[in-house]
Amino acid sequence: MAERLSLGAMPNATEPSPLRDEIAGIPVARLAREFGTPTFVYDAARIVQRIRDLAAFDVVRYAQKANSNLAILDLCRRHGTRVDCVSAGEISRALAAGFQAQGAPPPIAYTADIFDRESLDLVVERGIYVNCGSPDMIDQYGERAGRRDIALRINPGFGHGHSQKTNTGGEQSKHGIWHEQVPACLERARRLDLHVSGLHMHIGSGTDLAHLSKVCGAMEDAVRRVGTGITSISAGGGLPVPSRAGEPAIDLDAYFELWNQSRQRIEAELGHAVSLEIEPGRYLVAESGYLVTEIRAVKQMGRNTFYIVDAGFNNLPRPILYGAYHGMSIAPAAGASRERALREVVVGGPLCESGDIFTQEEGGFVLTRTLPDAGVGDYLVIEQAGAYGFAMSSNYNSKPHAAELLIEDGRVHLVRRRQSVEDLIRGESIPPRG
Ligand SMILES: *Cc1c(COP(=O)(O)O)cnc(C)c1O
Repeated sequence: MAERLSLGAMPNATEPSPLRDEIAGIPVARLAREFGTPTFVYDAARIVQRIRDLAAFDVVRYAQKANSNLAILDLCRRHGTRVDCVSAGEISRALAAGFQAQGAPPPIAYTADIFDRESLDLVVERGIYVNCGSPDMIDQYGERAGRRDIALRINPGFGHGHSQKTNTGGEQSKHGIWHEQVPACLERARRLDLHVSGLHMHIGSGTDLAHLSKVCGAMEDAVRRVGTGITSISAGGGLPVPSRAGEPAIDLDAYFELWNQSRQRIEAELGHAVSLEIEPGRYLVAESGYLVTEIRAVKQMGRNTFYIVDAGFNNLPRPILYGAYHGMSIAPAAGASRERALREVVVGGPLCESGDIFTQEEGGFVLTRTLPDAGVGDYLVIEQAGAYGFAMSSNYNSKPHAAELLIEDGRVHLVRRRQSVEDLIRGESIPPRG
């Protein structure tokens, strides 16, 4: 996925108006006054729509690391998804949100390259389905679990991703079991009475269908190595979300068709039904989310105008990490008048770090954005902030975590209260003297 734009790029004709009154029918100014800023706001209807988009797949397994708020997990569960967990903490969240520990297909799967001690205890104790990303996981699980089904996550020897940091296959990736080691891993599993029932590949695919057919071919090869025990295959996550107007959306029908044909060839070879899973994170939640900030300063630095807002990379690190592009709009404090001149601005946050800029591209180059004229007290809304926003946020500079709101059927629910200063220092202590 292209994450670049040129300096001073102008919005094209299809770009939506960068003025906004409301989110999911609720005035932004009302949300900001009632709950404060910065606040993440999620539109439940968007998430439900995205789940429905994927109805052709037998199982939609939400990769909760994109956004693991309990209310989001509960929403996904109510709309029929299963859930993927990458840590003991995520398993505990899934259980707290009402997912059953066991079932068919497994409501919860644990996918990782290691077990830390907590996660190994938890999966053994609760009988959670495990997707092993290393030979050591097979040994550690087999020694304690007794007879169980497992999945293997395969690294097919090649990858794909929109940045070096998001590439999840090939020799430079730490993820999964190297494809040539599958036979040895099967042998290990057999010795420990584990039964490999699922194969999984998550290597990112973008909109590139030629690449995808290569992934499907690698899955078919891997299934041949494992044989008849396989009853489910997972296409992993990585479905892209267009971040700006005019960018191509993924052709979901073509995506499903390629996987479905691959599944049908596998079924023909094995002689039994095989379930097809997909494991999206970003796709389900990215567009549902908005980070509502307040402009606290408008500064002129030579030729550049800066809007400095009260959220920083402590709230949304994707721009500083990957140069990720997020749409932005202005919600005037007094309601949108529709008559604001546009200007070129740089948007930054409050942190004592020069990289705390929301309008940057990979490599840290500062860009400008065309936004309506705005002043202190107006709100700046950062869009597509539902995935890897709150989930990656930190307390850097001792900034409390933002509040989170879920809007469902026209009602606003506070689904995480803003962190307090007491929360921030809880658990710390000063050693006694003398
Ligand atoms: C991160 C991750 C996903 C989701 O990736 P998205 O790009 O958010 O769709 C799915 N599966 C696994 C194993 C992951 O680690």
